[in-house]
Amino acid sequence: MILLDHAATTPVARAALEAMWPYLTGEFGNPSSTHAFGDRAARALQDARRDVAGLFGGRPSEVTFTASGTEAINTAVKGIVLASTRGRHVVTTAVEHEATLASLDHLRRRHGVEVEVVGVDSAGRVDPDEIGRALRPETALVTVMAANNEIGTIQDTRAIGDACRAVGVPLHVDAVQAAGWLPVDRDALGADAISISGHKLGAPKGVGALWTRGRLPVEALVHGGGQERGRRSGTENVAFAVALAAAVRELRPEDRDRRATEVAAARDAFVDAVGDLPIRFTGSETHRLPSIASFVAPGRSGESILLDLEERGVVVSSGSACAAGRDEPSHVLLACGVDPAEALTAVRLSFGHDSTRADALGAAAALRDVLG
Ligand code: PLP
Repeated sequence: MILLDHAATTPVARAALEAMWPYLTGEFGNPSSTHAFGDRAARALQDARRDVAGLFGGRPSEVTFTASGTEAINTAVKGIVLASTRGRHVVTTAVEHEATLASLDHLRRRHGVEVEVVGVDSAGRVDPDEIGRALRPETALVTVMAANNEIGTIQDTRAIGDACRAVGVPLHVDAVQAAGWLPVDRDALGADAISISGHKLGAPKGVGALWTRGRLPVEALVHGGGQERGRRSGTENVAFAVALAAAVRELRPEDRDRRATEVAAARDAFVDAVGDLPIRFTGSETHRLPSIASFVAPGRSGESILLDLEERGVVVSSGSACAAGRDEPSHVLLACGVDPAEALTAVRLSFGHDSTRADALGAAAALRDVLG
């Protein structure tokens, strides 16, 4: 079986599994307990927070552990807007993940927030100047993804951050897909808040993290015992926080860059091997994740291509895992100007850290068989 759907989720890395095991077994203390068991759990949580903060180039006190990337994004988007004294206007892009779009829709419906959606070019890139022009005195937040989950397009969040900083507007970056492949520290992204998800980078499903700069006010969504500095109450998931930290430690820049180069070469081998088939690649040729190859196959059905590939031992997806099973065209492809009928023919291959050139060529051969 060739599995090329790592943008949906990744296997748990051995390092993450081994790091969290003690906190699921003998070391099961509650970090709020004052006895030795609690102390050891609190220390493990503290160490995990320090390592995750390192990924963002921030301080441990600026990191909030959450139960998913979705929760981190909800906390950032709703929490920053609801705590803002600037006003009730938010700027985003047309290609964001549902976690962002649904959070903004909630703010619009229940809190009267005006949401301004900036379009993208045919490669899925937003013009930072256009974001800059959308900013107003009452803009409470700009929220933009670092890299898109369906087409892999990378945004110039640093330029967007410069525009935001010039007028004092905070920028939140959804770095869920970028984190395994690109630098996601606050300076590289130009961000004031950054969300990541564990299961996209070798930690288990059910853990995420939000970094927010210094004293940026963030309204809590979950109230209770005041854990996570009051930002997210509930007894902390020590084991998963420890696993996330272990996965993050695997992202040392030299390892990350080497893997990104190798995986990009494998992905490009796939692209070269299917270049003459009646398909059209989507996304940006120059600004894209090393791990993603996405295309449309005009006149075919994306779902049937997936089934035919799976019969041949190749597992891929039609785009976002969250949108799979719906027969609506992807909002990302529509925003790129893809015809709605063509958007329904979308296929996404997403490579993982351990995917190889042999996987890429195997997938290419299967696709030739299916479309040939
Ligand atoms: N943002 C992006 C870009 C994603 O790709 C995903 C998951 O696919 C999420 C947010 C949500 O993360 P989680 O699955 O941890 O809720």
